[in-house]
Amino acid sequence: MRFKNKVAIVTGSGRGIGRAIALAFAREGADVTVNASRRIEEAQEVVKEIERLGSRAIFVKADVSLKSEAIKLVRATIDAFGKVDILVNNAGIADPALLHQMTEDQWDRVIAVILKGTFNCIQAVVPYMIKQNYGKIINISSTAARIGFTGNINYAAAKAGCEAITKTAAKELAKYGIYVNCVSPGIIETEMSKGITENPKLREKYLSWTLLRRFGKPEEVAAAVLFLASDEASYITGQTLYVDGGELISIA
Ligand code: NAD
Repeated sequence: MRFKNKVAIVTGSGRGIGRAIALAFAREGADVTVNASRRIEEAQEVVKEIERLGSRAIFVKADVSLKSEAIKLVRATIDAFGKVDILVNNAGIADPALLHQMTEDQWDRVIAVILKGTFNCIQAVVPYMIKQNYGKIINISSTAARIGFTGNINYAAAKAGCEAITKTAAKELAKYGIYVNCVSPGIIETEMSKGITENPKLREKYLSWTLLRRFGKPEEVAAAVLFLASDEASYITGQTLYVDGGELISIA
């Protein structure tokens, strides 16, 4: 029980990687705030699963791209559990188009959810973490930040921004006992990656770039997040941990 008496907020945890992270924290004893901006039923189901595991959980409907809603998410956590120890910025969307066809709205929305959403939640949570002189913040990036992502320039740019946020926040917050790190997945089997994993041509192409010759599972990303949030990572901040089956070194 590595996270007994700890409180974690996991954004975008109604399904996919976020859900796996929320459940993994609960299994290790943490109380968890589950968040989604829509598809509320899925998120409420995650709350029930956490309660079945013996931990406490609340659901907060909030769109992290809006500062006021990020503040609401953190306040609801404080009201329910009295503190917040861990923030995982996982909420994300993709809205693909080639760069010369991408609309302003596609660009703005992806940047708002991934980049501004990450900033909004960090800014909302930090006053509480400073007061307790303790905090673990983990941002979910993507290998797209390092190698680009054809047809997803908005997403690749937003994720690269998350890595810059990680390093800057780590520098500013270390003196308050707050650690900030990034987990960067390759292709993980979720709703978001179906356009690749269920398209025979793209599937083969991406598998050929992955040394382990398979896509990752949400639980494999969750394991890396829990490590970085744990006391075992007591000398690690400002870093990016790749959970990519060897994709980056295979391509580079
Ligand atoms: P997913 O689409 O299954 O889940 C995304 C979650 O984010 C959903 O619960 C959704 O409701 C929530 N969300 C979306 N917009 C939101 C908003 N404005 N406010 C709050 N919640 C919001 O995707 P996933 O594959 O589980 O992805 C999780 C994270 O991992 C994302 O940041 C994604 O970019 C990243 N990632 C995924 C992969 C992959 O291959 N699946 C690879 C690299 C990185």
